[in-house]
Amino acid sequence: MNIYTIGFEEQLKILREKSTPVENIDDQMIALTLKMIETLDGIGIGLAAPQIGINQRFFVCALDDEAPMVFINPELIETSEELSKYEEGCLSIPDNYGNILRPAHIKVQAWNTRGRPFTLEAGGLMATCIQHEMDHLNGILFIDHMPGKKRDKILKKFQ
Ligand SMILES: [Zn+2]
Repeated sequence: MNIYTIGFEEQLKILREKSTPVENIDDQMIALTLKMIETLDGIGIGLAAPQIGINQRFFVCALDDEAPMVFINPELIETSEELSKYEEGCLSIPDNYGNILRPAHIKVQAWNTRGRPFTLEAGGLMATCIQHEMDHLNGILFIDHMPGKKRDKILKKFQ
């Protein structure tokens, strides 16, 4: 589960793919989400499956002081017009940060690891985390929300 054992080029290829829906929420997948939450401990607040080399639609968010959450086959069903800005980073693009503007409030629908659908309204950092991870499932990175020049500069550093 070391996300850094493959080269950046190879990682980027996986990160740029649109992930496919999860068909079976089985023990193996659940174990993977637990490992992802473990991986995050102290180093980040969100991790999406493509970041560990799996192009499937699920991710975890683990904010400080909140129970970690798993989102399987998530869909954004509402986004506010009001925007908010957070300084974002990404475990797949280490040591790079940038202020990213996104809808401040969202409503997301997803399935949990017990195979039950749920709807969550989120604001603040949770809304940012969910949108950042949702982007990963669609092959989008947080740097894509930056001005092109800044994004290219960051990508160049890794190539
Ligand atoms: Zn990320």
